[in-house]
Amino acid sequence: MSSKKLTYDVCIIGAGVAGCATAIALKNKAPHLSVAIIERTCDIRYKNISSQRIGETIPPQTSQQLQQLGIWDSFMKCNFKQSFGTSASWGSCQLYHNEYMYSPYGYGWHLDRLAFDEFMINETQKRGVSIHFENSITSSENEDKFWYLKTISNQEQTLIKSRFIIDATGKKAAFSSLQKSIKIKEDQMVGIYCFYDIPDHTKDSLGLGTGTCVETDVNGWWYSSILPNKKLVISYMTDADIAKNIQIRKTYNFTKFLSDTTYTSSRTINLKSSIEPKIIAAHTQYLNTVIGNGWLAVGDAASSYDPISSLGIFKSLIMSQFAAYATFDFLKGDDTGLKKYQHIIMQDYKGYLKKRQEYYAQEKRYINSLFWERRHQLSTITN
Ligand SMILES: Cc1cc2nc3c(=O)[nH]c(=O)nc-3n(C[C@H](O)[C@H](O)[C@H](O)COP(=O)(O)OP(=O)(O)OC[C@H]3O[C@@H](n4cnc5c(N)ncnc54)[C@H](O)[C@@H]3O)c2cc1C
Repeated sequence: MSSKKLTYDVCIIGAGVAGCATAIALKNKAPHLSVAIIERTCDIRYKNISSQRIGETIPPQTSQQLQQLGIWDSFMKCNFKQSFGTSASWGSCQLYHNEYMYSPYGYGWHLDRLAFDEFMINETQKRGVSIHFENSITSSENEDKFWYLKTISNQEQTLIKSRFIIDATGKKAAFSSLQKSIKIKEDQMVGIYCFYDIPDHTKDSLGLGTGTCVETDVNGWWYSSILPNKKLVISYMTDADIAKNIQIRKTYNFTKFLSDTTYTSSRTINLKSSIEPKIIAAHTQYLNTVIGNGWLAVGDAASSYDPISSLGIFKSLIMSQFAAYATFDFLKGDDTGLKKYQHIIMQDYKGYLKKRQEYYAQEKRYINSLFWERRHQLSTITN
């Protein structure tokens, strides 16, 4: 096995939206910094991917963050589908529409998530950031103001020396956990999702227009969204134990529960699913501390929100810029930026918890349901 040594000012772990956005923000602020990303998986651009990624609706205010990162023009060239609002049957069997019409930022988007993640990687590399794909960290040590990370890929070991580490590993918060930061998991929500192919001729006849539709039932809630790549995504959000009890990962059961819905099922008439139902963690979580000596966590690694908020990507984009400021200050010898960063993450998280509680409280129809009982007991952080 061969080995090599590399040195960077900043090493980011995870090439998701948060990792890439933080790298872009850092290079915008200080082009002289050497920045690298270590990514566990292979380069999605060269993988023959039959599966899809989930997490695809972004609100209008995201345009601000894309502009501030300097990637707005390239984003617009991706031709993602405009979103003018969402429809919801939540708290009542009536469908009501929440239009973005009154948003000062205009409309939002439905992303082809794989294409969006590829776009972020391209923009990151354009700015001179090295991305090491298929690399996993085997150890980390801090000595004399430097981090030493050992990584391993197929046949190569690398020793990375870096002044600052950014944990952007998503809900895993892999690096922060190694630094003894504690993940506080607030619920056990999961998403069970399927993609449906939309043939050209049925595109315009799908019910409920083109937006995202949300609909509750006794064990959780459904969302469906029409994507730019001629796909319809349908996801059922419930708790992990309930998903297991009702065996909703089985195609037969997924289809059966879906057929009991009023609005969501009307979108799949005559459509064929392109994959078996898949499951993904979707719980709310935060780290008790998102900073340490020479490191910070960003994106879902720092705090992750219920998909009902549709805020995961927006939050990653906005927090990446605060993360870049804090990192830059630390490299100049000032760690007050890190403390401010921790405060901002917690304030945002508290605001989110309050909104989440208020939103779930609006659905009062399923009084004997475990899922809804849990949602009506959601806590917030007041101090
Ligand atoms: C069902 C569902 C629906 C959602 N819907 C929406 C939505 O409509 N709108 C929205 O804005 N958000 C949505 N989200 C949330 C959104 O997808 C996330 O908030 C966002 O992807 C977080 O980005 P991230 O970069 O922090 O983490 P991730 O996207 O999880 O990226 C983390 C990266 O780190 C890599 N990694 C992990 N561990 C290691 C390691 N040890 N070493 C190296 N690399 C590692 C991973 O391979 C990955 O590439 C949804 C989430 C779920 C589960």
